[in-house]
Amino acid sequence: MTKPIIEVKDLAKNFGDNQVLKNISEQVNPGQVIVVIGPSGGGKSTFLRCLNLLETPTSGEVDFDGQNLTTLDTKKVNTLREQMGMVFQNFNLFPNMTVLENIKLAPMKVKNISDADATKRAHELLQQVNLDDHADAFPTSLSGGQAQRVAIARALAMDPKVMLFDEPTSALDPEMVGEVLNVMQDLAQQGMTMVVVTHEMGFAKSVADRVWFMADGYIQENNTPEEFFSNPQTERAQDFLSKIL
Ligand code: ADP
Ligand code: MG
Repeated sequence: MTKPIIEVKDLAKNFGDNQVLKNISEQVNPGQVIVVIGPSGGGKSTFLRCLNLLETPTSGEVDFDGQNLTTLDTKKVNTLREQMGMVFQNFNLFPNMTVLENIKLAPMKVKNISDADATKRAHELLQQVNLDDHADAFPTSLSGGQAQRVAIARALAMDPKVMLFDEPTSALDPEMVGEVLNVMQDLAQQGMTMVVVTHEMGFAKSVADRVWFMADGYIQENNTPEEFFSNPQTERAQDFLSKIL
């Protein structure tokens, strides 16, 4: 039996009186691509941020690679968090650094990789996202699609075991969505474990191993994309799909 790389047990998160996550228990196996979909405000971002403890769960447990993150000290959490790459809607590149410097920074600072090795790896990653000709550009000169591909390369530079994506294409002009989804699809095909919050149903259908439908703070359905899209079980999911498809 495969051991899950991420296991969430009875996870709950409150902001004041607002119960945003309600006793979620799910697991992600190595190599799996999970696509999380659902209405705005349903708790998707909070859930993703709890997986790497960017948000502290109110109760419950998040195990990563067999270790319960919620019981570890900050230093250990930081070490494990480095193994979870995260990509946000708004890229969050460092504006005062070139593309190459953005990618080299964490490996050199956090992992003590030499400048030469970090540079070599950064170029490899830029080739992987089709941007090696932009190595010396600054983020402001990039299109949204290019910036997001750099953000993906930067996350990969830490050699993560898992990649978390929070609506990576939602801030992009429509013509740039495809180039980012293609990079993500390649990554999935190479065996990367991924948890992806997205509204791109085509991506969910063609790349996801499992779709988690999240609304009102629960994962209401966990199914294959085939089953989920052709035969949603809950009224909540049926309603959601009727509005977007
Ligand atoms: P989604 O990503 O599915 O749109 P979110 O996780 O962003 O959902 O939000 C779920 C709920 O949690 C919303 O009601 C939102 O207002 C609330 N929320 C999210 N982050 C915070 C925060 N830092 N402080 C207070 N409330 C928050
Ligand atoms: Mg969100």
